[in-house]
Amino acid sequence: MKYISTRGGIAPVDFAQAVMMGLARDGGLLLPEHLPTVEPTLLNAWQTLSYQHLALELLSLFTGEMPRADLEDQIERAYSTFRHPHITPLRKVGELYILELFHGPTLAFKDVALQLLGNLFEYELNKSGGFMNIIGATSGDTGSAAIYGVRGRQRINIFILHPHGRTSPIQALQMTTVTDANVFNIAVRGTFDDAQAIVKTLFNDLEFRDTYQLGAINSINWARVLAQVVYYVFAFLKLRKQGFASVDFSVPTGNFGDIFAGYVAKRLLPEGCIKRLILATNANDILSRFVNQGDYSIAGEVIPTFSPSMDIQIASNFERYLYYLHQENGSKVKAEMEQFAATGRMDLSQFKEQVRRDFASRSVSEQETIDTIRSIYEEHNYLLDPHTAIGVRAALDVKQDRPVVCLATAHPAKFGAAVQKAIGKEVELPPTLAQLANMESRCEVMDADAALIREYLQTNALL
Ligand SMILES: *Cc1c(COP(=O)(O)O)cnc(C)c1O
Repeated sequence: MKYISTRGGIAPVDFAQAVMMGLARDGGLLLPEHLPTVEPTLLNAWQTLSYQHLALELLSLFTGEMPRADLEDQIERAYSTFRHPHITPLRKVGELYILELFHGPTLAFKDVALQLLGNLFEYELNKSGGFMNIIGATSGDTGSAAIYGVRGRQRINIFILHPHGRTSPIQALQMTTVTDANVFNIAVRGTFDDAQAIVKTLFNDLEFRDTYQLGAINSINWARVLAQVVYYVFAFLKLRKQGFASVDFSVPTGNFGDIFAGYVAKRLLPEGCIKRLILATNANDILSRFVNQGDYSIAGEVIPTFSPSMDIQIASNFERYLYYLHQENGSKVKAEMEQFAATGRMDLSQFKEQVRRDFASRSVSEQETIDTIRSIYEEHNYLLDPHTAIGVRAALDVKQDRPVVCLATAHPAKFGAAVQKAIGKEVELPPTLAQLANMESRCEVMDADAALIREYLQTNALL
């Protein structure tokens, strides 16, 4: 399996290169040269597989030359950190199905991909004899999942910048209590944007970037998308076993990463298995406007909401879907993305019919989010986190006559303040979060000064 860029400007690379590269050198995103498909005759056998074995079957369609035993070992280790035997259990809640993706070490769905990505990085670096310094900025959630993905790994150091005192206390503790020697937490005296700007400055210094082999761990990495395809197929197969031929998924979306994995799963499976993807957004609704009006354009500033992991302005994975809308024509994607960079707008109304076949969409308000947490709790004694509640609300609104699987992207205790507002009482912390306050922690507090942080990296980075 070879990988190409959505902008058509690189020679095809293999899976290992695609994973290590992250972003393609022409500025595009990496995609398989051809999407594989799964024969209908395989589905009966796959229905009985464990999560890990299904992951092995699916991932090996994409990993090319990697020996199957090596892939199997990486998958087994990645999911041994999960607290549920089914990894991503499916529950029936009222008329909906909830796919719980939060049983990993940081209690959010990003663990599903990042636990595996850490292993893939280490595996490739052991083969090449190289090293990597991962650097990233976080407003809360991604940082801890990334840190847990690579803690204690060989040949990798990770530096995560977060805004000092501006994440929730639990989010900060989830990062700073990881005291492995390869983990460096930096609390920046400033905002998330300040931290992000420093990371960008360091990445744009090409000499620095090459010397220190800077690596990113953001959601544009193909391996992250790929790891997420597995749970869509897993959930579909569970419902197929119960006699359903066709299902919808509802996905609370920010960067279009998770839902793009759903799109890949839809294309992979025989026609009609996954009928529709319901794209649920909060007030930051660029993607809903795209689905409903064909208008992909930036509207003002990012609006802070109860679902902060979806507070985005531009969806970094959207380009991958655009590539398929443009019939895999890289030069059209390139032109469109360049125009978007210049104007902040993209008129995609010509594709409206096609988009409506793949997606339905709904933007959910703050009040609706809180009301949904409350009503699902009152009616079914089940607690949703605010991100999941957005997907649930959208699903209830656009549901048709087939099962809808709602992706539960975070444990409700991670966003306890919003949940408490909805149900009027405190959310009980699961033991992994409750114990954080008593653990040893390590964190460097620094001014938001790129030169200082550059120095700190030079002192502590692998070289
Ligand atoms: C990251 C995140 C999302 C959004 O996922 P995308 O892949 O960016 O669409 C939704 N919910 C939670 C809890 C997240 O952490």
